[in-house]
Amino acid sequence: MSIRVLPDVLISQIAAGEVVERPAAALKEILENSLDAGATEIQIELEQGGVKRIRVSDNGCGIPRDELALALTRHATSKIASLADLEQVASLGFRGEALASIAAIARVQLTSRFDHNGADSTSAGHAWALQVDGGQLGEPAPAARGAGTTLDIQDLFFNTPARRKFLKTEATEYAHCAEAVRRQALSHPDTTFILSHNGRVQLRFPAATAAARVRQVLGEAFESNTVAVDAAAGGLHVSGWVIRPGAATASRDSQHVFVNGRYVRDKLIVHALREAYRDVLHHQLNPAYCLFISLPPDGVDVNVHPAKTEIRFRDSRGVHQFLFHAVERLLAAPAAAGETEPASPQTGTQAAASPFAVPQPWQTAMPLQVNEAMAFYAPLGQGSGVGGQDSGGAVAPAEQSFPASGQGDAPPLGYAIAQLHGVYVLAQNTQGLVLVDMHAAHERVVYEKLKAALDARAVPAQTLLIPVALTVDARDVAEISPHLEGLRGIGFEVSITSPTSVAVRSVPWLLKNADPVELTRAVLHEVAEFGVARLLADRRNELLATLACHGAVRANRHLTLPEMNALLREMEATERAGQCNHGRPTWFQISLRELDAMFMRGR
Ligand code: ADP
Ligand code: MG
Repeated sequence: MSIRVLPDVLISQIAAGEVVERPAAALKEILENSLDAGATEIQIELEQGGVKRIRVSDNGCGIPRDELALALTRHATSKIASLADLEQVASLGFRGEALASIAAIARVQLTSRFDHNGADSTSAGHAWALQVDGGQLGEPAPAARGAGTTLDIQDLFFNTPARRKFLKTEATEYAHCAEAVRRQALSHPDTTFILSHNGRVQLRFPAATAAARVRQVLGEAFESNTVAVDAAAGGLHVSGWVIRPGAATASRDSQHVFVNGRYVRDKLIVHALREAYRDVLHHQLNPAYCLFISLPPDGVDVNVHPAKTEIRFRDSRGVHQFLFHAVERLLAAPAAAGETEPASPQTGTQAAASPFAVPQPWQTAMPLQVNEAMAFYAPLGQGSGVGGQDSGGAVAPAEQSFPASGQGDAPPLGYAIAQLHGVYVLAQNTQGLVLVDMHAAHERVVYEKLKAALDARAVPAQTLLIPVALTVDARDVAEISPHLEGLRGIGFEVSITSPTSVAVRSVPWLLKNADPVELTRAVLHEVAEFGVARLLADRRNELLATLACHGAVRANRHLTLPEMNALLREMEATERAGQCNHGRPTWFQISLRELDAMFMRGR
């Protein structure tokens, strides 16, 4: 075969392979066009999963009669005119190939009414329709409709049978279409979306605020299980919602990211979020989030992929750092972690700055040291005793009906009432009942303190009254002998007393309540396996988690009320206190409203 230039329709059919691989992809392009045209109302009607028909009507700016054919022509666009425009592009579309590609593989009718206020255009006030069958353009004919555009696509892939074969069941294709509508709806809350399938309305999203739209699209459960993010730095801004670690599931389906209003799939962003949750999420779970990121258009290249779902950031490291810190800081805020009340965007952001987020210097807050912690402890009824501090908005006593609570100065986790089965602490706060898993909570407190101590290179040791002798494997003894100095640095003073025994003279002060034999065994085991250097570098947090587990109060240890209150105060002062080191929840709030509902009070 000799080389030839391909006919236009064939070029569009080839391009359609990339842009329109299934009905949902065509729908996405058409919705983008409506949004670019400024539509505030978009109606979508599908038949047979979109394969038989996709009809989208909008109330956008419309297309003049003389431009109808152009709209369906390859590489014709009203959105950019130069390379400089491309680098600054703010519209969703810019490639000028979607309509031409769709028109090459379906029967398309484009009807539009372009109303402009200067009167001398032939099209003013009239609607015109243009029919295209498999790329063969007809002539514009007068039609009737209000201002805006309707694109009616029938028999997608009718002339490309090979592609048709790749389509899945009607239900699957419909599900993809519905997802495409949800995505656009999330990022364009000001626009009303109505989707029907085979004549029945399936989704109806009236114009709303961003928060209300998230509720419409992702449901009330998503809203109440998430915390609001709102952060800005340089030209970067992120807002949206991220899951409370305790509410995360294994599914990855609920990860919605929009960059400058465009739904994107971006590995860098997924990675930044994963990292932000690393310290609070069980490794089998995935964070859910809905994030809206904005930055100046020239900070991101959107022309990477025909479907425009992949992007490239100019400063990808900066974006990664920014997102990581914004979310990590939010999750570290003690008040953010375990609340069950839905947080408004404001409370979410304030939570990060609340006075309770300020970590106590580890030196002054000892684990369950009652005398010390009593300083934080303002008993019930004393009310505004704590120096007129504001409660930081974390537990706004807005609708409290709890007579005994302090007025605004009550600590977020309240005051202990009892210990249940040696495992749980029961406390009451302004909202209702707080249930704490005392081991899990204390484990996090000790872990965060160990991290802080190690960061400050100050891990004081507690000398044991009587050194503890330990029989250990000869191989382990050989492994640890070069590391004795390093061990001393983290509070363990160990000496080798024979080829198969060691003596422990001190343990880290923070862990002085742990069983020194078990503790030492655990550490020697890790040292023998990884060496102190690696333990203190990339396995540091794992080591500290092991230590914290040993240092935390065990189940069935009786706690006095002041000890329980001290634990609550420590939790309030600890970052990430809502989850233990393994990502499991440490406490739950059950509000009076929920208790009332349980007992059907007030019905
Ligand atoms: P692109 O969106 O990349 O410009 P398309 O092929 O999707 O390319 O659309 C071509 C042109 O048709 C657009 O630039 C726009 O001017 C016009 N157009 C398409 N859909 C609409 C619509 N719903 N309302 C107004 N104009 C539209
Ligand atoms: Mg387009």
